[in-house]
Amino acid sequence: MTHQTILIVEDEKKIAELLRDYLEKVGYRVSSLYRGDQVIPFVKKSSPALILLDIMLPGADGMAVCREIRKFSDIPIIMLTARVDEIDRLLGLELGADDYICKPFSPREVVARVRAVLRRVHGEPVKNRLVAGPIQMDENTHQVMIHNEGLALTPSEFGLLKVLMAKPNRVFSRNELLNQVQGYDFEGYDRTIDTHIKNLRKKIAEKLPDEEIISTVYGVGYKFNISSE
Ligand code: CA
Repeated sequence: MTHQTILIVEDEKKIAELLRDYLEKVGYRVSSLYRGDQVIPFVKKSSPALILLDIMLPGADGMAVCREIRKFSDIPIIMLTARVDEIDRLLGLELGADDYICKPFSPREVVARVRAVLRRVHGEPVKNRLVAGPIQMDENTHQVMIHNEGLALTPSEFGLLKVLMAKPNRVFSRNELLNQVQGYDFEGYDRTIDTHIKNLRKKIAEKLPDEEIISTVYGVGYKFNISSE
């Protein structure tokens, strides 16, 4: 038995409790939240295996929460919605959810869907961890390690490094970088990319003084220099 943790985000406590009972009975660990605005900090800290996410929540709307999670994680999300006719609309919104379940549902159905989604993602590479040369990045915890030492980065620096690191040797223009880091609380405009890159280089150079990890491609932009083998 694997004991994966399922996060239930549902403000109707009776439903949350019922789901918890069923999921625990079949061997999952369960965490529960009752407010939408608690989800992002929780997910960043604890990386659950899957999220059951209600749409109507106090604090923050489930749809907005789902979109926000997709900016930093591919963790499986099953949305819980109050009406069947809402599902078509939800699909059209391309929230990035893995499945939708309509209320009222049977807890058995939910357990079956949870298993199906986890089976589907199981075996596929987990995309929340990047490794390139001596640098390791965990997107869930926002941690970057170089030779097992932590590197303290701002959200903007983290976002930039992630984009560059995901495609080593690919040259990115400042504009492309700016577009791709929008999900990382990026502060500034394309000219500030240079400043962020400069700071990022300085931080990396403290751990790797002899390597040019991020190089400037004159007239084009920047690239990451280590192959991700
Ligand atoms: Ca609700």
